[in-house]
Amino acid sequence: MFLIWKKANILNKLEVNMEIAQENFRIGVESAPYALILSDETGRITQVNFQTEKLYGYTSEELIGKNIEMLIPKELHKHYRHDSESFFTSPAVVSLGIDDEVYANTKNGAWFPVEIVLTPITTQNGISVLASVTDVTSRKANEAIIKNQVKELQLKNQELEHFNYIASHDLQEPLRTVSNYIMLLEEDYPEQINDEIRMHLSTMNSAVSRMSQLVRSLLDFGRLGKNRKLSLTDCCSIITNVKADLNGLIKQTNAVITIVDDMPVLYAYETEMRQLFQNLINNAIKFTDKDTAPQINIGCKKTKGFYEFYVSDNGIGIDPKHFNDIFHIFQRLNKNEDYEGYGIGLANCRKIAEMHGGEIWVESELGKGSTFKFKILNFKA
Ligand code: ADP
Repeated sequence: MFLIWKKANILNKLEVNMEIAQENFRIGVESAPYALILSDETGRITQVNFQTEKLYGYTSEELIGKNIEMLIPKELHKHYRHDSESFFTSPAVVSLGIDDEVYANTKNGAWFPVEIVLTPITTQNGISVLASVTDVTSRKANEAIIKNQVKELQLKNQELEHFNYIASHDLQEPLRTVSNYIMLLEEDYPEQINDEIRMHLSTMNSAVSRMSQLVRSLLDFGRLGKNRKLSLTDCCSIITNVKADLNGLIKQTNAVITIVDDMPVLYAYETEMRQLFQNLINNAIKFTDKDTAPQINIGCKKTKGFYEFYVSDNGIGIDPKHFNDIFHIFQRLNKNEDYEGYGIGLANCRKIAEMHGGEIWVESELGKGSTFKFKILNFKA
C-alpha cells in the first residue's frame, strides 16, 4: 500500500510539474514579440498567440482548426505545398524570407513581407510545425531606400570620375599650347626679348608647369585605388622601401627615421599603403626648420578591430585650427618658396585610410612637431 501511495505521489508531482511547464510555455508563447503559429501535418492550425491575431487581423477562434493556407496569399499556395511536403519528409529548422521574398496575407486581403522560421515539434499526435512570423515591411522598405541610394551614389561617382578625367585631359591641351607659344616667342624674337620680358616669360612658364602638375595630381587623386588589390602586406618592408626611395632627401637633411614598434603584416591595399607612408614620411622630413635634423618615429598598435599607426616628427608643427583643412585637396599652409608641394599628399592619405575602412587625423602644436595618426580595418578580424 505504501509503495502504491508513493508511486501515486510521484506521478502527481510529475503532473503538477508538467502543468507548471505548460503554463510557463504558454506565457512565453503569448508574450513573444512575433506571431507564433502551431499547425499539424495536414496544415491545420492548432494554436496561435496574441501577436498572430494582431498581425493577421483574425481572432484565435477564427484561426484554430482552419488550414494555415488562409494566412498565405492564394498565388503562393502551390509554392507553400511543395515546401511543406519537403519540410515533413525531413523535418529541420528552416528560415524563409531572408534571401527570398515571402509574403503573408491579412484578413482584409493585404499582403506584407515576412520572415518565417519553421521549427518541427514532436507532439503526441506526430510532428507539428511551429512557425514564428515577423513582419519585415519597414525593414524591406529601408533596404529598398538604401539600395536606391547606393545606386544613385554609384552613378554620381561614375559621373564625377568621368568629369575628372575629361577635365584633367582637356585642361592639359591649352596648357601645352601656352607653353609652346612661350618657347616660340623666345626662339623667334630673341632681339626684342629683354631681361624683364624674359623674367615674365619664365614666371609664366613656371605657372603653366605648376598648373599642369596640379591637373595631373587631380587626375591621380581621382584614379587612386581604382585597381586596388587586398593582399598580405608587410608594413616593415614598405617603410624600408620608402626609406630607400627617399634616401637622397634623408641624407641631405640628416633625417633619422626610427621604427619604434613591431610593424604588422596585415591584409591591406599594398600599393596605396606604400603611398600613404611615403606621403607622411616625406612631409615629416620636408616640414622641418632648415637647421633642424628631422627625427621621425613610426609606430603601430592593435586596437579593437583596427591597426592604429602613427608617424611623428620634430618639425614646424600645425596650428590646431587647420587640423581638418590640411586633408582637403590643394590645401597648403605654407608658401611654395618655403616648402614646395601641391597640396594633394594628405588628401590622398585620407582617401587611402578611408578605403581601408579607417580614418586619418593629426595631433600637433605650432613649433612642437606633429603626429599623424591613421587607423585601418583589421580585415582578418
Ligand atoms: P604638400 O606637402 O604638397 O604641401 P600635403 O597635402 O601633403 O601637401 O599637406 C598639406 C599641408 O599640410 C602642407 O602644405 C603643410 O602645410 C601641412 N603639413 C603636412 N604635413 C605636415 C607636417 N608633418 N608638419 C607640418 N605641416 C604639415
